[in-house]
Amino acid sequence: MSKKPRLRFAPSPTGGLHLGGVRTVLYNYLFAKRHGGTFVLRIEDTDQARYVDGAEQYILDCLQWCGLEPDESPFNPGPYGPYRQSERKEKGIYREYADRLVKEGHAYYAFDSPEQLEEMRSRYSTPENPSPQYNHTLRGKMRNSLSLDAEETASLLAGGTPYVIRIRVDPGQEVCLNDMIRGEIRFSTSGLDDKVLLKADGMPTYHLAVVVDDYLMEITHAFRGEEWLPSAPVHVLLWKALFGEQHMPKWAHLPLILKPDGNGKLSKRDGDRLGFPVFALNWTDPKGELTKGFREIGFLPGAFLNMLAMLGWNDGSGQELFTLQELIEKFSMERVHKGGAKFDFEKAKWFNHEWIKWSTADALAPLVKPLFVEKGIAIPEGERFTQVLGLIKERCTLLTDFVQQGAFFFTFPANPDLASIQAKWNEAKQLFFAELIRQYELLPEWEADRLEADFKQMAAAAEIKPGDLLQPLRIMLVGGKYGPGVFAIAAWLGRQETIHRIRHVMGLLRP
Ligand code: GLU
Repeated sequence: MSKKPRLRFAPSPTGGLHLGGVRTVLYNYLFAKRHGGTFVLRIEDTDQARYVDGAEQYILDCLQWCGLEPDESPFNPGPYGPYRQSERKEKGIYREYADRLVKEGHAYYAFDSPEQLEEMRSRYSTPENPSPQYNHTLRGKMRNSLSLDAEETASLLAGGTPYVIRIRVDPGQEVCLNDMIRGEIRFSTSGLDDKVLLKADGMPTYHLAVVVDDYLMEITHAFRGEEWLPSAPVHVLLWKALFGEQHMPKWAHLPLILKPDGNGKLSKRDGDRLGFPVFALNWTDPKGELTKGFREIGFLPGAFLNMLAMLGWNDGSGQELFTLQELIEKFSMERVHKGGAKFDFEKAKWFNHEWIKWSTADALAPLVKPLFVEKGIAIPEGERFTQVLGLIKERCTLLTDFVQQGAFFFTFPANPDLASIQAKWNEAKQLFFAELIRQYELLPEWEADRLEADFKQMAAAAEIKPGDLLQPLRIMLVGGKYGPGVFAIAAWLGRQETIHRIRHVMGLLRP
C-alpha cells in the first residue's frame, strides 16, 4: 500500500448501535490497524430531524467497551477536524462544493415548494411507477434552474425564494464501481434520481457530505453496510465531478447480518421477538423504552468482537477463536464473504463461554464483582473471590451466570432442595453424615483431596455407594444439584462452614 490507509466509521447519531454497525467498525478498524493506518470516527449529524440526544455519547461508549477506539474523533480531534458534520457545515465547507457543482453544470437550483413536489408525485404517479422521482424525465416540468431561464433563476435567488441544490444525473450512462468484496459493479444512470445535495437550510444531505468529507479527510478505504450500495453510483458521480475518480476511496459493501429465521436483515424487532439483544450496549430511546445490550446481558467485549468478526469472515484455517490482536494480524478483505451471514444467538453464546473459560479469574473479577454487589451479595476481597471464579467459570456462559453459580459460596443456602434428599434419606445415611462431621472435625488438614479420600473411605466402611452420598452432601453445601466439585467447595468453605451447612440440613431431614 503506497499511502498509510485512513478508514472511517461514519454513523448518524439516531439511536442504538446495531451489531451490524459494530461489525462495520470492526472491519474498518482491523484493516486500518493491519496496515499501520488510522481509524477515524466522523459523526454524520446532518439530518437534524433524526438526531437523538445521547446517541453520540452512546456510540463512543460502545467503541470504548469494544476496545475499538478511534485515532481521530470529535472527542480526540486530529488534523482533519471538525469531526462532526454539523460543525463542518458551520464552516461553509459543503456550500462551497455545492456551488461549484452548480457552476460546473453538475447540479442545479430547485425552487419547488413541498406542495409542488406533492402535486408532481400525485400527477405523474402510475400503477407501474407509484412514486415518481425528481429525475431527468420530470425535472423539465418543475421549477429549477434547468427549466427556468437565467433571468428568472437570478430573480428567484435574489428574492430569497427557498431552494435546494440537486445533482443533475443524465440518463444513458454507466457508472462503474470497483468493490473490494463484490468486484466490478455497473449501474445505469437512467434509474437514478436527481438527489438533493444541499437542503433549503444550507445543510448538506448525506450524499454530498460523505463525498466531501471522505475527500477532505483523505479517506483511502470506506467499508460500509450493503444497504448503502444503491447510493454508491451517486457518490461515484460526485467524486468524478468534484475531485476526480482517482482520489476516490476503495469501497467495500459488507454483507448483511441476517435474521436467524427467514430472510432479510436482522432487526431490533427480531431480537425482541426471539429474545436476544441486537445492540452492543443498553439503549434507552427518547420515549424511555429500554433495549438490552450484549454488555448488560453478560458478554465479554472480546467474545462479542470475535463473534462479529466471524459473521462474514474467516481465515480459512477453521480457527474460530481470535483475540483482537490476532484478528488484526490475520484480517484480510479478500476473505470477507459476499453473501449475508445468519445471526445465531446460540453460537454467539458459545463464543462467550469459550472466552470466559479462556479468561483468567483475575481478569474476570472486576467485571463480575459489580454483578454480585447489584444483587446485595457481599463478596470477599482478593484471592478468596478469584478462587471461586476459577472454580465456576467453566459453568458460566454469560457473566451474569456467575451470580447464579457462585452465590452459595458467599451466602448460606436458605432454601436447600430438601425434597431431592428426603426421598432416599434413611437411618444409615443419617449415621454416615453424623460420623462424617466427627471425622471432619478432627482432620489435621482441610484440603479437597483429603476430604474426598476420607469421605470415600467412610462410605466404604458404611457399605453405601459414594454416589448415593455425594448428592446429599452437594445439596447440603450448595443448596441445589449444581456447582463444581463438591470437595473443592468444602475446601473453600472451610471446616466450620462446611460442618455448619451439613448439620443444618440434617436437622431439617426425617430418617
Ligand atoms: N452516515 C451513514 C450511516 O449512518 C454512513 C454510511 C457510509 O459509511 O457511507 O451509516
